[in-house]
Amino acid sequence: MKARPPTFEKFRDVQAELERSGAAIFHSPTGEDSLVIRYPYSIQYIHSYAEDSPFFLGLADGKLKGSKCTKKSCGFVYGTPRSHCMVCGSPTGWIDLPTTGRLHSWTTCHFGSEAFLKETPYNLALVEFEGVGSLLLVRLKDATESQCYVGMPVEARFDPNPKYSITDVWFVPRR
Ligand SMILES: [Zn+2]
Repeated sequence: MKARPPTFEKFRDVQAELERSGAAIFHSPTGEDSLVIRYPYSIQYIHSYAEDSPFFLGLADGKLKGSKCTKKSCGFVYGTPRSHCMVCGSPTGWIDLPTTGRLHSWTTCHFGSEAFLKETPYNLALVEFEGVGSLLLVRLKDATESQCYVGMPVEARFDPNPKYSITDVWFVPRR
């Protein structure tokens, strides 16, 4: 009979064993033994951008698309896709945003989701554009945490091999 996987009381020890052999038993403080296993898992995810599609197609063309309220007396301009105006509820239309702006705020991430781990530390920035009433959340590259400041001029860069994702655009300090 095959031996039982080893038993641990600390989950970090369970994780180490899972890395090593793929199976471990976690002995919980309540006295229960749970068999924990590790195996590969992947999915193909099909996602429709639907009405946001022009934004992602625009990134592939090196353009930033925003939205503008179609009601003349409102005309609120958004730095992101938005189908309807949050001020008056009217439909919006697409506009081209400037590819230059200013750093409104930022956070430097020393940890991130799997897709961004290899980039850490990286900056997540809120970029403001002249004449635009809302901000764009985007990565800011080529600037360390201490080089960033509120109001710093920044400009967009676009991935020449677009993946149709928000990661197709990032900003860098404007030189
Ligand atoms: Zn409006």
